[in-house]
Amino acid sequence: MEFLSTRGTAPIATFTEALFRGLAPDGGLYVPRTLPTLSPVELAALAEEAWPDVASSLAAHLLAPSEDRTSLDRSSLDRLVRSALDFPVPLVRIRDRLFVLELFHGPTLAFKDVGARFMARFMGHFRREQDAPLTVLTATSGDTGGAVAQAFLGLPGVRAVVLFPDGKVTPRQERQFSTLGANVRAVAVRGDFDDCQRLAKAAFRDRELREATALTSANSINVGRLLPQSFYYFHAWAQLSRSAGVQATDAQAILFSVPSGNFGNLAAGLMAKAMGLPTSRFLAATNANDGVPEYLRTGRFTPAPSIRTSSTAMDVGDPSNLERILHLYGGDLGRLRGDVRGRSVSDQETLNCIRRVFHETGYVLDPHSAVGFAALEAELVLRPEVTGILLATAHPAKFAEVVEPVLGRSLPIPPELARCLEGERKVIPLDPDSEALRELLLAG
Ligand SMILES: *Cc1c(COP(=O)(O)O)cnc(C)c1O
Repeated sequence: MEFLSTRGTAPIATFTEALFRGLAPDGGLYVPRTLPTLSPVELAALAEEAWPDVASSLAAHLLAPSEDRTSLDRSSLDRLVRSALDFPVPLVRIRDRLFVLELFHGPTLAFKDVGARFMARFMGHFRREQDAPLTVLTATSGDTGGAVAQAFLGLPGVRAVVLFPDGKVTPRQERQFSTLGANVRAVAVRGDFDDCQRLAKAAFRDRELREATALTSANSINVGRLLPQSFYYFHAWAQLSRSAGVQATDAQAILFSVPSGNFGNLAAGLMAKAMGLPTSRFLAATNANDGVPEYLRTGRFTPAPSIRTSSTAMDVGDPSNLERILHLYGGDLGRLRGDVRGRSVSDQETLNCIRRVFHETGYVLDPHSAVGFAALEAELVLRPEVTGILLATAHPAKFAEVVEPVLGRSLPIPPELARCLEGERKVIPLDPDSEALRELLLAG
């Protein structure tokens, strides 16, 4: 598989090149040059497969050994995919026409484990060919940091540096990357997530720094994170077609609600659709950071400073992956509108949704998933012919400070989380200044 830059002026890259570079040299994001479409026979086979077989088949389909000389043979590929995605991804029925795909059974209890672990496994595998120790730099609004840090923890020849907005991630999120030590550094930036993202982008643009530190990115801009996120859409569709008898070929049947912030998850869903996922609609569910729903409505996108909400991992005012989504649609807003609707959900509606769903069904949503749930319910009322699948992006215990007061009860702490809560917190404070970050990275 080959990759182009959204900005169009970088040379074509192989998967490995795109994986290690993160950002394309012209400042754009890598996108697949073409997305190989699955044949009806391949789709029918996928519909019968369980996780992670679906993931392994799709990875082989995308990364088929061909033009890329570093391509993997089928059995190594299979081994990497299985070790990265070795946790369940169940589809849970909440009520008629409403299902939840639980993406939070990985080590940091958030869907970002899927992308981070896939990327880390592949970087680890291909790294032997690279000489210098790698610096994996990532900006996080909360969940990415933990997922990336855990995915790279202990990987030889790699240092993971996590930039997070000081005081703007939850204590439990922070613990998931600040207590690891070893090859993981947690950097507390005095600013917001957009400052962290700006700093990371400036570092990648700095050629000298990039070379001196063998800098690579682990943000959702990295294709190594993006690709595997397309796999679970197929898995959801396969499970639904088996369980609910939804016609596998009925293109209107499923609406995926995607709680969105930086829009990597949605971009991956749209890629799945381009590969032939036979369900077609997506709901871009946002909190008050509603630039994309506004764009879909008005055709104008206005980057804005991020607004703080209860779903902090989605507090992104200027989402990077919009550029990728527009590229995928050749800038055709009409066609994009055909596949994606937008809905923004207020904090009050989100909290009410957590409470109401728990009282009605006993199911506990985290605040991010609740944004997607509330948006999906509103949409399903308008579309009686559609079955909704909410992508549940985090385990509620990760956001206990929001969920517990709303439900008036405490939530059990899963063992993955309990382990991090005990460790010692170590963070490096940093001003939101690219020169300061430069010094920090060069100092080692
Ligand atoms: C990162 C994150 C999101 C947003 O995903 P994007 O791919 O950035 O749109 C939603 N929910 C949770 C829990 C997250 O960690």
